[in-house]
Amino acid sequence: MEIQIPADNDGFILLQCSLCGEFFKLTVDDIESDDLIEIWCPTCGLKSEDYLTEDVIELALKKVENASMDMLFKEMKKWERKFNGNGMEFKAGKKPKKKKEDPIISVIQALEIKKYECCKREAKIKPILKLIGSYCPFCGVNYYGNK
Ligand SMILES: [Zn+2]
Ligand SMILES: [Zn+2]
Repeated sequence: MEIQIPADNDGFILLQCSLCGEFFKLTVDDIESDDLIEIWCPTCGLKSEDYLTEDVIELALKKVENASMDMLFKEMKKWERKFNGNGMEFKAGKKPKKKKEDPIISVIQALEIKKYECCKREAKIKPILKLIGSYCPFCGVNYYGNK
């Protein structure tokens, strides 16, 4: 199962912390990089279990549901072929209606690029966080002010 998450013009992908619900963005390169194992939320500074946005989770659930309905329908069709003509009738019925799988659209979030010198990597965070301080998403270091 594959879900396409579009990157913005700068190559950043929108993430959402499941602990505080805040959005931030990391580059596709960093997310796919092998040495990035853990991600700290720049807002709350904690390591969330996942950073999927609600859109992505919703689409994933729909995909799973559609796939399992497909499997069930195919199984029913098999039964239909097996049993019909043996004095039994078995109808699979109509093919189940699929749930619409809307592609993820890049939501416009007013986020600004912040360079984290400690890791030499960039993230997009809320402008207010650049003022009051944020955590480096790559190592968890706390940044006070616009260092
Ligand atoms: Zn958070
Ligand atoms: Zn860092």
